[in-house]
Amino acid sequence: MTETRQYGFDTLQIHAGARPDPATGARQTPIYQTTAYVFRDAEHAAALFNLQEVGFIYSRLTNPTVAVLQERIATLEGGAGAVCCSSGHAAQIMALFPLMRPGCNIVASTRLYGGTVTQFSQTIKRFGWSCKFVDFDDLDAVKDAIDDDTRAVFGEAIANPGGWIMDVRAVADIADAAGLPLIIDNTTATPYLVRPIEMGATLVVHSTTKYLTGNGTVTGGCVVDSGTFDWSASGKFPSLSEAEPAYHGLKFHETFGGLAFTFHGIAVGLRDLGMTMNPQAAHYTLCGIETLSLRMDRHVKNAETVAGWLEKHDAVDHVTYAGLASSPYNALAKKVCPKGAGGLFTVALKGGYDACVKFVDNLEIFSHVANLGDARSLVIHSASTTHRQLSPEQQEAAGAGPNVVRISIGIEDADDLIADLEQALSKVS
Ligand SMILES: *Cc1c(COP(=O)(O)O)cnc(C)c1O
Repeated sequence: MTETRQYGFDTLQIHAGARPDPATGARQTPIYQTTAYVFRDAEHAAALFNLQEVGFIYSRLTNPTVAVLQERIATLEGGAGAVCCSSGHAAQIMALFPLMRPGCNIVASTRLYGGTVTQFSQTIKRFGWSCKFVDFDDLDAVKDAIDDDTRAVFGEAIANPGGWIMDVRAVADIADAAGLPLIIDNTTATPYLVRPIEMGATLVVHSTTKYLTGNGTVTGGCVVDSGTFDWSASGKFPSLSEAEPAYHGLKFHETFGGLAFTFHGIAVGLRDLGMTMNPQAAHYTLCGIETLSLRMDRHVKNAETVAGWLEKHDAVDHVTYAGLASSPYNALAKKVCPKGAGGLFTVALKGGYDACVKFVDNLEIFSHVANLGDARSLVIHSASTTHRQLSPEQQEAAGAGPNVVRISIGIEDADDLIADLEQALSKVS
């Protein structure tokens, strides 16, 4: 696509990164189901391996179908480049890997996807990394948690499972003052609803498994780099600023500038960690992403309708949706995500754990699954599933207590969703 004018989001979600296939004219991006690419000659091969020329070598590093998706997501987020990988969790490791050394820590919000809390509190310890969890509503606490060994600040723009809103701009300013990158998990918000890079984030990570694909078909992840962070300023990020031994002393930041993080992600991250996205997955996500804005508008509209109905129901204690006037996050939501607060929230039932289990078991349109961001409406009882590994205190801090059911509102008819919720709630009380 010739970028002679500034295209709008709806145009870019269909066209960015793609063009008719040069070999066949195929209009949809083909699935390049191939592992390796023939070098023109030995000199061409050497140039590719030395990162002196950009091209395809081997699909653990780059693949033409995956490359289109990378450019599509980077464009939609307003970033300089992106690296796709095998899952959202892989994306989180890929984002941290160039920044961290043994002994380094990250400062992260307490309100995160349950799997991320486990990854950050348990698994990364084995790399010698650690995480300090802080309530991101308390900006002074974020500031105080940052120390000399901190290498990143991490939060979710619209936090799973409650749909709470993070003041991305305020936390970005704190990270910036400390000379650190802010990493935003934009999975539950999508670049249509929240613009983390415009609000000062350095990196954006996604589970493309969720809204970007939008139909529950594949797992995938992506790390987008804003291209604006000065990796050489502090000496804290030697993987990006210092000589890389595996590339004859090449310095990524000096050589690639705003694309340093992306090149490092491919040439070192994917090369050595191998968390590669396969071309089939990229194909499904490319198909899904074409309708992202249309789906998100409907997710938001349905969530507003259903959450508003639920909060008035007798069996319901409270609903966390930030799009409701009753939410303490409503004013922040208008600032951070003016198009709507997404499609994810929790409902707390007066009947506690037992009521939640009965409610979930009696739903018919809503499926009880460990997923979100599907065209279908989904529920999960977080305390017994996604947040099961967490202590009761961590569950409460994450907004996933035993009396809470997470709801991911789909794009079905809102009337049908309400009718289903009504019949299931009638069996609870
Ligand atoms: C699902 C999810 C992840 C993890 O993504 P996977 O693709 O399942 O690895 C990370 N963050 C958030 C907010 C998620 O919803």
